[in-house]
Amino acid sequence: MSGHSHGFTNWPFADPENLATFSCVHVMERSHPILRVAHDDDGAWQFLCGQLHDMEDARLVCLGCMVKREPELLTLADLPREWCAERDSPGESWIREPNPADPDEDE
Ligand SMILES: [Zn+2]
Ligand SMILES: [Zn+2]
Repeated sequence: MSGHSHGFTNWPFADPENLATFSCVHVMERSHPILRVAHDDDGAWQFLCGQLHDMEDARLVCLGCMVKREPELLTLADLPREWCAERDSPGESWIREPNPADPDEDE
């Protein structure tokens, strides 16, 4: 996840553009909009479609590529760790809420 740039002139995230983040097969390969973003307590970002997932649905993508694909993610650059943001559809505003670690991830 290094060695390429994205052309951002203004990068609001505290994390580097080339940080590896998690997405899912629906977003990456089936063009599903991103409807759920989670910033984990270990600093990992997740950009997901909002559906339930198996491990095999996960995809790694660099943060810069994700933001280029979905510029509205720039508004979530200051989302604290252990918080998540959701929206009902693209273009709607993100609803932020604390995202406490949950052992049975059946959300
Ligand atoms: Zn998905
Ligand atoms: Zn990239």
